[in-house]
Amino acid sequence: MVDRPLTLMAVHAHPDDEASGTGGVLARYAAEGIRTVLVTCTDGGCGDGPGGVKPGDPGHDPAAVAAMRRQELEASCEVLKVSHLELLEYADSGMMGWATNEAPGSFWQTPVEEGAARLAELMRRYQPDVVVTYDENGFYGHPDHIQAHRITMAALELTETAPKVYWTTAPHTMMKRFGEVMRELGADWEEPDSAEAAEMPEIGLPDEEISTWVDTTAFGDQKFDALAAHASQGENIFFLRMGKERFNDLWGVETFLRVRDTTGAALPENDLFAGLR
Ligand SMILES: [Zn+2]
Repeated sequence: MVDRPLTLMAVHAHPDDEASGTGGVLARYAAEGIRTVLVTCTDGGCGDGPGGVKPGDPGHDPAAVAAMRRQELEASCEVLKVSHLELLEYADSGMMGWATNEAPGSFWQTPVEEGAARLAELMRRYQPDVVVTYDENGFYGHPDHIQAHRITMAALELTETAPKVYWTTAPHTMMKRFGEVMRELGADWEEPDSAEAAEMPEIGLPDEEISTWVDTTAFGDQKFDALAAHASQGENIFFLRMGKERFNDLWGVETFLRVRDTTGAALPENDLFAGLR
């Protein structure tokens, strides 16, 4: 029917998001012979520097951080057997409210149409069957994740590619278990008080609203190793503290909300490519 391989395109904000958010599906579908394309929108320059130096602190050089993180990203892609890595190389905007949000050239300051036009070019080239990105809140409110969502949805409109489109999500039951594990491991995990919680969009979805549950437990080692490839950000990657087994136990099933489908595949489904093969 088609003269090209089935293709999964994942659009992420920073180096390391590919591993934490979609490491399981990238590894699993590569193993099934599906072409996997990772688009990473920013250079990750607001990450930790060598020796754990924090952004904004003396000695933090965003260009050097970006170079280091690019190598880590390439190592992660090797572990996950990503077929094609595409970098948009916008400057990392940092967390919401940081001065870097306003910096010229930051992803957050980039007009959506500009980013979308570049991404649309990649969509036309690769003709993805499945596109995965974040929800409108960027899963947890990071400006670069929100912007990745915006340019992806705009690029999809420009190209009309991808019969199936998904947003990453997590079931509330799993977020609760995650919170418990984090508290147990002594991570700084505070429950928002109720007033704060009312203003904050809730992370993830009620279990019954999740459309797509993909079992990637057989690829847990790869997912963990891909995360570990981002060693310079180790302090920010709580998952690494859990150890492989517990991590896989908690996050072995990756969950998504299907937001576009032209295949008619029944819901809930357990395969991003249901209806396509
Ligand atoms: Zn990120």
